[in-house]
Amino acid sequence: MSEKILGIIGGGQLGSMLAVAAKKLDIKTIIYCDDRDAPAQNFCDEFFFGEYDNKDKIFKFANRVDTITYEFENIPYETLNEVNKLKPVLPKPSVNRLIQHRLAEKDFINKLNIRTTRYVSIEKKSEINTLEDFLPGILKTTTLGYDGKGQYPVNKIEDLNKLNIDFSKGFILEKLVKLKKEISVIVTRYGINNFEIYEPIENMHQNQILKHSKIPAEISEKILNQSKEWSIRIAEELKYIGTLCVEFFIDRNENLYVNEIAPRVHNSGHLTINAYNVSQFENHIRAVCSLSKVPLKKISNAKMVNLIGNEIKSYRENIELKDNEFFFDYLKKEIKEKRKMGHITTLIK
Ligand code: ADP
Ligand code: MG
Repeated sequence: MSEKILGIIGGGQLGSMLAVAAKKLDIKTIIYCDDRDAPAQNFCDEFFFGEYDNKDKIFKFANRVDTITYEFENIPYETLNEVNKLKPVLPKPSVNRLIQHRLAEKDFINKLNIRTTRYVSIEKKSEINTLEDFLPGILKTTTLGYDGKGQYPVNKIEDLNKLNIDFSKGFILEKLVKLKKEISVIVTRYGINNFEIYEPIENMHQNQILKHSKIPAEISEKILNQSKEWSIRIAEELKYIGTLCVEFFIDRNENLYVNEIAPRVHNSGHLTINAYNVSQFENHIRAVCSLSKVPLKKISNAKMVNLIGNEIKSYRENIELKDNEFFFDYLKKEIKEKRKMGHITTLIK
C-alpha cells in the first residue's frame, strides 16, 4: 500500500472529486481551503482551514504532505511559489501564474501561432475611444474571473464609458465571436510526449455558466484533429504535469479559437468519471504523484448536466435514477443562485 500523501489547495467540488480519485489509488489527501464549510472535507483524509496568504498555516500543511496540487487557478503566485520551495507543487507555480492572467495567457497562445479571439488590454479610461474595432465585445478582468464573473458585454463605446470600473485593475476587451459551438479538450501530461488525451467535449453555456456537456462532440474531423493537436502543443510548451483543459470556440465559418486554458481538472470533464476507464481526476492524481499511466479507453458516450442553484433540490428529495444515470451532489452547505450544486451524467449509446 502506498504511503503517499497528496496536498490539494482548494476544497470545492473539483477538490472532492480529486480526493475520491486519490483514495481509489490508496493515496491520502489533505485539503487546504479558505472556506470552513468546504465540501471536499467530506472526501479527504484531513482538512486545513486557512487563508491562501497565511504562510504559517500553509507551511504547516505543506510539511504534512509529499506533493501539492490545486483545484483552481486563483491562488496567489506568491503562495504557490513559497510552498514549492518546501514540497513539489504540480502543475508548476509559473504555469499557474501565466494562465491566471488573461492577457499573459492569450499572448502565450498567440506566440504558438494558435488562434485566439481578438483582444486588447485596457489600463486607462482614456483608451476607450480607440477601441471601435473590438466591438461588439466582452470586457473581462485580467484576473480572478470565473463562471462569467468579472465580465461585461459591450456593444458600443458609450457602454464602456458608462461602466463605473477602475480600469487600472487590468482589463481586456475581447471581440465577440459569432459562436456556432463551444468545445473543450482535456489532456493529462505525464512528461515529454507522454500524455493521455480525451476526445473533444461539446459544451453549452447558459448565462456564461457551463450547463451541458456531451461526447461525442458534433464537429468536423478537421476541428477534432486541430483542437487535439493545439491542446497537446499547449501542454508540451508549458511542460505541464497533470490534467489541463483547453476551452475552444468554433465560429459560424468553422474557425477554431482557443478561448482559455484551465490549469486543472475541468467541469466539462466530469463525464469522464463514468464514460472512461480512467477519469480526468484519476489521471491528474497519477501524473502529479508519478504513478504509471493506464491506456485510456472510452466506455460509453455520455452527456452531463450541471445542477445550478435551486435545481439541486428536486434531485435531493427524489432520486430515482436509471441504471445509466449518475447523480453527484457537491454537498455545498448553502444553495446560491448561479452556484454549481451538483451534476448528473447519463451514459448514452
Ligand atoms: P470564465 O473564466 O468565466 O469561464 P470565459 O472567457 O470562458 O470566462 O467566458 C465564459 C463564456 O462566455 C464562454 O464559455 C462563452 O460562452 C462566453 N464568451 C466569452 N468570451 C466570448 C467571446 N469573445 N465571444 C463569444 N462568447 C464569449
Ligand atoms: Mg471559461
